[in-house]
Amino acid sequence: MKKNMLFGSTLSHSLSPEIHKYIYNIIGYESTYELAEFRENELQKYIEKLSKFDINANVTIPYKEKVLPYLDFLDEKAQRIGSVNTIKSENGKLFGYNTDYYGLSETLKHYNISGKSFLVLGYGGAAKTVIQYLIDNNAERVFVATRKKELHKKLIDNEQTKLYENTQAKSYENAQIKECNINEKIEFISYSDIYNISGFGIINTTPIGMHPNIRNCPVSPYVFKNFKLALDLIYMPIRTSFLICAENAGLTVINGLKMLVYQAIKAIEIWTGIEMTISQKNDIFAHFDSKFSVISKIKGDSDLTKDPIFIIGLPGSGKTTLGKSLSKKLDFNFIDLDDYIESKTNMKISEIFLLGESEFRKIEKLSLQEASMAKNTVISTGGGVVVTPENRELLSKKSNVIYIDRSCEDILSDVNLQDRPLLKDNPNRIYEIYKERKDYYSSLCNYKIVNDGSINDLVENALKVLASKEEDY
Ligand code: NAP
Repeated sequence: MKKNMLFGSTLSHSLSPEIHKYIYNIIGYESTYELAEFRENELQKYIEKLSKFDINANVTIPYKEKVLPYLDFLDEKAQRIGSVNTIKSENGKLFGYNTDYYGLSETLKHYNISGKSFLVLGYGGAAKTVIQYLIDNNAERVFVATRKKELHKKLIDNEQTKLYENTQAKSYENAQIKECNINEKIEFISYSDIYNISGFGIINTTPIGMHPNIRNCPVSPYVFKNFKLALDLIYMPIRTSFLICAENAGLTVINGLKMLVYQAIKAIEIWTGIEMTISQKNDIFAHFDSKFSVISKIKGDSDLTKDPIFIIGLPGSGKTTLGKSLSKKLDFNFIDLDDYIESKTNMKISEIFLLGESEFRKIEKLSLQEASMAKNTVISTGGGVVVTPENRELLSKKSNVIYIDRSCEDILSDVNLQDRPLLKDNPNRIYEIYKERKDYYSSLCNYKIVNDGSINDLVENALKVLASKEEDY
């Protein structure tokens, strides 16, 4: 099986594995996509792996420029921009591409750039792709707001030349480097100057406002009145404070998700030689657009203090599995109430049950009260949490209680009940328990979802019901 990787220094929140696996499935491409998170002193070692084992790679912060000297060939766009986010490994040779450019061009293809002025915030790797795209499409002026105005002014004169000196790479397309007179079109400015700038588009290429610092915005809301379009390259969250302010000021707003999805599409086309149809590409983007919009709705725009989501249901109904996946998707904390009780008491649940069920319920009641104070948290409760009146009262006042309805037959056939104190000696007791608790589950929940098989379906359904509530507001 083919192996692909993502190189970067901080990858735990990357959406790329999910996007790649989804596309591989659609086009029938058998490959893994592994995260390779490492420090700069290990870059050479990882690059050598690629050519030795014919592994392809995507490259993200902070290695997009640093990989250049190790590559055998660069395509024309990667050369001009001076950064590579996709490496194809073939017969021991490494070919570098910049598919961010393609992602950006798909994002902006419906907008006429020619003759218009833009303000780009920040001058890092992504900004260079943005500027190159704007220049290639005949933008009139590109103002670049940077914290290091003087430094960039000096550097830009030699930037293209420097790239060739620093890399052994040659363009295998023999492309002529386009003379774009980059100096004349670009003006570096300080943030204090941006109030005097007006133009068609304002583009955020800084990480300000990116998860988890979602309340931050790189500019004050007054800046937007001078522009018509705002693009934020950030895709997590989908609606950044920057885009919310821009929208409030009447601008058309675009987030970075399309760029992210289309750069992945292009990378996969390069690696596989398979060209996806326009409708396939549209469908792939639509899938992620709807998925991440749903997550964004549940999390709220800039709201860092969402009440917890509680999951209730029979033992073995999938509460812990759903809770873990849901918290990962929403980037919420996760509390398994049984684990919480065990760490609080330093005893196993089975040991506490030896003291009597009522002793366990007392501890469970206190633990639920404590856990329910948490914000931005998914809490998987124990199956019996609903038998205690105080717990029912607490849950009845909450607005995010999900009941997982799973049949007793499925639970018996699928779940190891040995570590369930009430069921281990008599698994069929599940039917009695269901009878005792089903009305509580149904009356306390705000949403009921059925678990009849796949965990993916369960998570998708939970996200849908939670998002539908946000829409009702
Ligand atoms: P980068 O190379 O680190 O550049 C970011 C630039 O932002 C810096 O060079 C700096 O510019 C500015 N900046 C950083 N911290 C700042 C701060 N605290 N205050 C003001 N300015 C600050 O990163 P990058 O690769 O360009 O990525 C930038 C953003 O674009 C990230 O959020 C990334 O996720 C996103 N991105 C999205 C896609 C996509 O597909 N949607 C693709 C690439 C990147 P100055 O020093 O000049 O001020």
